[in-house]
Amino acid sequence: MNYDDKNIFAKILRGEIPTKTVYEDEYALAFPDINPQAPVHILVIPKGRYVSAADFGATASPEEITGFYRAVSHVAKQLGVEDSGYRIICNIGPDSQQMVPHFHVHILGGHKMGHVLAPSD
Ligand code: AMP
Repeated sequence: MNYDDKNIFAKILRGEIPTKTVYEDEYALAFPDINPQAPVHILVIPKGRYVSAADFGATASPEEITGFYRAVSHVAKQLGVEDSGYRIICNIGPDSQQMVPHFHVHILGGHKMGHVLAPSD
């Protein structure tokens, strides 16, 4: 799948759609999910043009990969969920219901979560 520069997270990175920045460095931007599914629900996205976690893992540079995942860990710590625990989710492609074709990690936490990921009906 080719990267679509019109996707909503590309627009956020270009400053065309407002968001509340939680964290930013040269590799990553973190901001609240507009439709939170937990008391803590933050999205972390790479600055580069990657469609999904699969694309990122296959084609990003080692520096980008390290920088990005360091940012994810940093954000979880900043949010205060490092000790209580949290879940990170990356949806990839249609079966996962990935809606935005720019790689993003969901950080979910702040309450006790169920153990099983249920299939959709
Ligand atoms: P996914 O299904 O993994 O592609 O998740 C995309 C996420 O992006 C969803 O949880 C949406 O609620 C979220 N989202 C969509 N538009 C925005 C936006 N403008 N700002 C913040 N989050 C958004």
